[in-house]
Amino acid sequence: MEKIIVHAKFHTAHRQIGYPGHCCHVHGHTWRGTVTVTTEEFPRDDLDMSLDFGDLKKLMRDLDHKIIVSPNDTEFAQSDLFDPEGVVVLPGRGPSVENLAVWLWDRVRDCIRAKFPDRGKTYRIEVLIQETENNIFVVEKEAVV
Ligand SMILES: [Zn+2]
Repeated sequence: MEKIIVHAKFHTAHRQIGYPGHCCHVHGHTWRGTVTVTTEEFPRDDLDMSLDFGDLKKLMRDLDHKIIVSPNDTEFAQSDLFDPEGVVVLPGRGPSVENLAVWLWDRVRDCIRAKFPDRGKTYRIEVLIQETENNIFVVEKEAVV
């Protein structure tokens, strides 16, 4: 088996509308993400490289200094108030660490698909997001790309 692991840190804000506590207010975290991709043997490009570490890190670093919101948080969709470049809309009912990890998992799969399309290989993709020192969520599942 071969495995690629990348870490990245990003400063991102969110709020949990409807949460019965202080998390309903806009606040930020220094999120730490770890993406792990495992497969029997990675395809190689012309330089004998597999997935680009930088491409995987960029998926997380693109969230830096932005706010993540859910589609029902329409205030941040007002482009006259908030620069659309600074707002990332995640699917789901709230910009939770769970939804962030699932959203990132989809992007990691898309990144593999973009570099090595239609190979029919099975990859185990794990996305770990650390919201605070003590709070971590992990999504881990397979994709055939
Ligand atoms: Zn939070």
